[in-house]
Amino acid sequence: MDIAIKNGFIIDPKNRIYSQLNIGIHQGKIIAVTGNELYGEIIIDANGLVVCPGFIDAHMHEDPFDSVKDEFKAGIFDCLLRMGVTTAIGGNCGGGPDRPDLYLDAVDRIGLPVNFGIFVPHGALRRQIGETDRYKKAAAQSIIRMKALAEAYLDKGCMGISFGIRYIPGMDEEELMTVSEPLKKGNRPISAHIRDDARNVVTAAQELIRIGRQHGIPVQVSHIGSMGAYGQMNDLLKELDQSKANGLDIAMDCYPYNAFSTELGETTYDEGFLERYQTSYGSIEIAEGEFRGRRLDEKLFHRLRRKQPELVTIGHVMKAEEVDMAIAHPGVLIGSDGFMHKQQGHPRASGTFPRVLHRYVKEKKVLTLYQAIEKMTYLTAERFGLKSKGHLSVGSDADITLFSLEKIRDNATFTDPVLPPDGIEYVIVNGQIAVKGKDILNGKLGKSIRK
Ligand SMILES: [Zn+2]
Repeated sequence: MDIAIKNGFIIDPKNRIYSQLNIGIHQGKIIAVTGNELYGEIIIDANGLVVCPGFIDAHMHEDPFDSVKDEFKAGIFDCLLRMGVTTAIGGNCGGGPDRPDLYLDAVDRIGLPVNFGIFVPHGALRRQIGETDRYKKAAAQSIIRMKALAEAYLDKGCMGISFGIRYIPGMDEEELMTVSEPLKKGNRPISAHIRDDARNVVTAAQELIRIGRQHGIPVQVSHIGSMGAYGQMNDLLKELDQSKANGLDIAMDCYPYNAFSTELGETTYDEGFLERYQTSYGSIEIAEGEFRGRRLDEKLFHRLRRKQPELVTIGHVMKAEEVDMAIAHPGVLIGSDGFMHKQQGHPRASGTFPRVLHRYVKEKKVLTLYQAIEKMTYLTAERFGLKSKGHLSVGSDADITLFSLEKIRDNATFTDPVLPPDGIEYVIVNGQIAVKGKDILNGKLGKSIRK
């Protein structure tokens, strides 16, 4: 046996396990879960620690792949691994690599810190066929070409298709409907950053629901905190629950912060945003560059938006109690929505999972420990059809996170978004130790996940 994890408190929601047991690992798989004594080449004493399936990030934004150097740009994956994530789903909000299939090939060739599955990003399809004006409707011929490309990438193992409807206002419902049609084959999910937020969020969700209904496919509504935590969360959750009761396979994801993050040039900040969020320029913080840490005013906003549209900003505009409501909802999975720009960005990339445990389980008691782990592991695996992940059954992939419930705490902040958390003691990826304490021992154990 390669590794024996002894005396840990096992929480495995799929198998309804909640007791002190030992786990044996051999050749990448779990081979024993038992009260009996185990011996291994490596013995981990997990006394006092929670041992659970590795966390699965339902929604994140992967680092770009540099095909010239044949390497992934450094950034988010190390942050995810350090906070206990062993599998991540990328290609979200319509953004990601032009060739998601080649990205997956690179993961297997080079290795990544975590296992990785990817959506076909619709925005990349648009870019590839030369539809570059985001405010313009795509030509009929272009839509057909995007559909064919999407189908080809799905055949190569992508998880589903993601749309950033908010970011491409020129995309009409016909484009959405046609490009997502190949998802019917294999019943794969459509995931979207929906068309609008705040007071328009329910109407925007209804659009996505119509697509899901028409095709009969699973629907994933992305980061609902930043979509509806401005006074609309109750209505939004009601709408989604109602569509579920009417037979739609629908789920949501959310990150546990009251502030969103996006680039200054994005459509989020188009005319009328202050009114929409009922806020002022001062609620927007600059996350990088020479003005890092500074709040905007009207003059600075217009100047920087013109000159540096790629500048990452933080919008401190969401209502905490409405984010709590989203996190507590049984249909909501945990997704960091994290991304990294030169080690700067939003702390959710390094803090999401420990923060759920520290703030939402221990402090606010919005979730029980068991519910939190279920949302961070098994429910997500089930959602995306990852059969050998998200649980600790004998025969499943040995992706395991060990943490101290007493010490667990997110440390990343808006000024230092890459600070690793406390309390994550070991992370095991595909049967080998990837993280011990705050050190990454092996950052290349992750493999591609293909459908
Ligand atoms: Zn998004």
